Amino acid sequence: MILDRPVQAIKRVNFLADPSSDRPDWAGRNGNYIRNRNYYQARSYQSDLGGIEFCVCPMPRFGRTGGRETEASGAILVPEIIVDSFTLTARWIFPVAGPSLKNGTITLRGERIVAIEPHGMRGADLDLGDGAILPGLVNAHTHLDLSGLKGKLPPSQDFIRWIRGVVQHRRNLTPEQLAGDIQIGLAGSLKYGTTLIGDIAGQGLSWPFLANAPLRAVVFFELLGLPTNRAEQTAREAQLWLKEHPATSTCRPGLSPHAPYSVRASLFEAACQLAQADQIPLATHLGETPEELELLKHRRGPFVDFLSELGVWDPQGLVHTLEEVIDYGHLLSFLVIHANYLKSNQLVQANRKMTVVYCPRTHAAFGHPPHPFRDVLAEGGRVALGTDSLGSNPDLNVLAEARFLRRSFPGLPGDQLLRMITLSGAEALGWDQETGSLVPGKSADLVVLPLPPKDEPDPHDLLFESDSCISRVMWRGSWIDEHEPPSSRSRAGLKTKSAP
Ligand SMILES: [Zn+2]
Repeated sequence: MILDRPVQAIKRVNFLADPSSDRPDWAGRNGNYIRNRNYYQARSYQSDLGGIEFCVCPMPRFGRTGGRETEASGAILVPEIIVDSFTLTARWIFPVAGPSLKNGTITLRGERIVAIEPHGMRGADLDLGDGAILPGLVNAHTHLDLSGLKGKLPPSQDFIRWIRGVVQHRRNLTPEQLAGDIQIGLAGSLKYGTTLIGDIAGQGLSWPFLANAPLRAVVFFELLGLPTNRAEQTAREAQLWLKEHPATSTCRPGLSPHAPYSVRASLFEAACQLAQADQIPLATHLGETPEELELLKHRRGPFVDFLSELGVWDPQGLVHTLEEVIDYGHLLSFLVIHANYLKSNQLVQANRKMTVVYCPRTHAAFGHPPHPFRDVLAEGGRVALGTDSLGSNPDLNVLAEARFLRRSFPGLPGDQLLRMITLSGAEALGWDQETGSLVPGKSADLVVLPLPPKDEPDPHDLLFESDSCISRVMWRGSWIDEHEPPSSRSRAGLKTKSAP
């Protein structure tokens, strides 16, 4: 048996007999055992694969170990692993939920954080040097299935032209291409330190990839349908998909009625009811372009031609105002994607169930006027950042979104920026009890960012005023980055106590 992931440090291994075994008393620590005049040896080994392997070996009475066999002689042994704690340090630790700590420490046990302490309280097992330890990054909005569009459809002020290109692209994709595109997007997300992602997925197809990847996810099943029959069919498909995709320990379902120009009012309502019944989040693109506002207000504009071309134009089916949709935020966790043309008084609700998801580089690429996010923050609303897809963005690096914002608005406080790519995203996606900040009890999801060789009055500035890339990623207590020399990997994997 091999553990599915390395652990930082094994204190000891107990072998517990399976109570259903015919030898329930056959248990103990690493060591030798005698049963029915036969010797057995139970041992744990550091596996070549990085995990811990357990063996039970029958031994000749006076001879050598008889060789490796698992579950020998009818006794089924269940390993109980007692894991020691493991402490990391770096030049700065940014817990997000508390003050930044210069040369502080973060202590892990298994996959959990057990302590965050200032310098001098505890010795470190691993010093990450001149870098920062941050919570794993949260990308609150992307479409991995559009990764094949990278570089092919440059955004411009003509949004309708762009969305027409997206529809065309999707129609021509084979299932194999689609799977490949999702994997490309996923690899691009992991590379930039994403440990939680909100992915809008056509037919929910990214689920098997995200449910088996080393990160947490909400997979939002995308709902499209303006004409009655299409809307009803999509609602049925969503209901079935939800039934077939219950939440796992790392991947949860959500629903995404696409946008007011592509979703019938009754389909918004059906999505809201399904999301409420299952207590899952809802995400929708809202107030993205002036053409969308014109369509809803006057039932005219360039969207009419576009929808007619697709054979789905049905003015009776549209919602009347954006408020009709925004009101869902009173009922459930609601991610309002883009909100480029909405006002802060429409976007801040007292119950804080609603989050504005702002995609800064995509917003700029389409040439929209200034985004209302600063007003939303000033009025106590929540803003999280997303990358949107590779169809409108050069990469899926959410840290680059924050740095872009810092360049556009130099006065924006660094702690606010960091929150928008960590805890606020986790709150929006409903994962904030598990991840999004470095506090005892949460999952050990963290990234390491090399820092420039200088100091700033506000250490957050060090994160956003350089262009360094995430160098290491830990998820659930295990390093998942692959591009590091083996020597540093084993240092991180095995405990070697160093002086404080
Ligand atoms: Zn989007």
